[in-house]
Amino acid sequence: MYRGGSKPLSFETRLQRINQKVQVSDTGCWLWTGTTRPDGYGVVKVGDRWERVHRFVVRAGEIDVVRHKCNVRNCINREHLIIGTQAQNVLDSVAAGTHHAFGRKLKESKDA
Ligand SMILES: [Zn+2]
Repeated sequence: MYRGGSKPLSFETRLQRINQKVQVSDTGCWLWTGTTRPDGYGVVKVGDRWERVHRFVVRAGEIDVVRHKCNVRNCINREHLIIGTQAQNVLDSVAAGTHHAFGRKLKESKDA
């Protein structure tokens, strides 16, 4: 039997270890108690590189954008995370903001 080598950990094993390093807040956030970067995001060592924990737990790919519904940067509750692409992010902001700004406001200023 092969022992003590550098057999890579499975995602599930890493996830279990990560879940042991959280503190559940009143708002249901899973606050990361491990290493945190100066920008507020928790990081975890995966192999020989550091990954942001909230991205790791949702298995985000290179082009995926992971957002926090709760706006808590070191929260890693997967129910608080939204995964999408950069393009979706742009569409979201168009739908939420710009669209509303057109419509009525322009019409009103014309009438005035
Ligand atoms: Zn949260």
